[in-house]
Amino acid sequence: MILVTGGAGFIGSNFILHWLAHSSEPVLNLDLLTYAGNPDNLASIAGHPAYQFVRGDIGDRPLVRSILADLRPRAIVHCAAETHVDRSIGGPARFVATNVSGTLALLEAAHAWWTTLDAKRRDDFRFLHVSTDEVYGSLDPDDASFTESTRFAPNSPYAASKAGADHLVRAWHRTYGLPTLSTHCSNNYGPRQFPEKLIPLVVTRALAGESLPVYGDGANVRDWLHVDDHCTALRAVLERGRPGETYNIGGGSEMRNIDLVQHLCDVLDRLAPREGASHRSLIRMVADRPGHDRRYAVDSAKISDELDWRPRVPFAAGLEQTVRWYVDHPEWVERIRAGEHVRPRHVAPDPRVAS
Ligand code: NAD
Repeated sequence: MILVTGGAGFIGSNFILHWLAHSSEPVLNLDLLTYAGNPDNLASIAGHPAYQFVRGDIGDRPLVRSILADLRPRAIVHCAAETHVDRSIGGPARFVATNVSGTLALLEAAHAWWTTLDAKRRDDFRFLHVSTDEVYGSLDPDDASFTESTRFAPNSPYAASKAGADHLVRAWHRTYGLPTLSTHCSNNYGPRQFPEKLIPLVVTRALAGESLPVYGDGANVRDWLHVDDHCTALRAVLERGRPGETYNIGGGSEMRNIDLVQHLCDVLDRLAPREGASHRSLIRMVADRPGHDRRYAVDSAKISDELDWRPRVPFAAGLEQTVRWYVDHPEWVERIRAGEHVRPRHVAPDPRVAS
């Protein structure tokens, strides 16, 4: 079986659903259910015989030790993190606690348990750290895309905390021999993303008739990766990636934020028209985020050459499908906007977690 951390979040939940759709291998989801963890994301697999959920902290060493000893996973896919750049500017300590200290605790527990395995199981074990392209910093318009050898230059507390975790993961491979893998992906989009991130923020606010804030001059460029493509990339890295290596995962779809928001408005005008005016009339330019990175672009040549992975979802079609998902799931949107998602309906207590 595999252990996924942060599996109630956006990428983790899509990864678990993707996993169970393509494999019969059981998966355990360890998630603290912070504001960003949403059990509604996994409602469709509540009671699935190959799925288990434990509500708990990756930094809770006794809990993680007991999960590893009981369930003996062949891999850990580490998605749990604090992930919102704006929140990291207002409260960086939480980001260091979860992303750096939490990853350290998980590495220590994984390593201690891994040393007890026989040689074959030790060789087969994988610790996959899901990191971000933001550790590489910001690009100018004509700069080449980030490669795996681009120097780390994180600009936000979020990016710095993820870079810290990346360094620990590297050290646990180099020093202790733990078979680790790291990935750096670009901005993901798709269903089940917490609506503080740009695409679901715009779609859910537009559906509520609220203003659509765009930072600065709107010319910041992001590369967009559909979450399903990210899931296939993570599976490829887990199955065929070389221990100790890092892999960049990009969508090959760069776009300025303002162009993206206008495009989303046009899709919404077709799928959920407003009376009398285009959704574009809701767009408002607002003061820029401090330290706002200008451009991200990811070179995926390594994962493409070594692991035969490429993004498959065309950007326009993926965006349309994504907008349609939020339009078609008003209850998911309403519960999360009201903060009701944090009161889980689908979670039974686990005996390993102290009450
Ligand atoms: P998310 O914020 O949607 O979900 C994070 C999950 O982690 C939540 O379910 C939360 O409850 C859980 N969590 C937080 N602290 C925890 C703790 N101490 N113990 C256990 N669980 C905890 O994040 P996401 O967008 O799904 O991102 C997943 C990973 O991918 C993160 O590591 C992030 O840095 C990385 N990433 C995300 C993107 C993106 O575009 N979303 C891009 C690049 C990298």
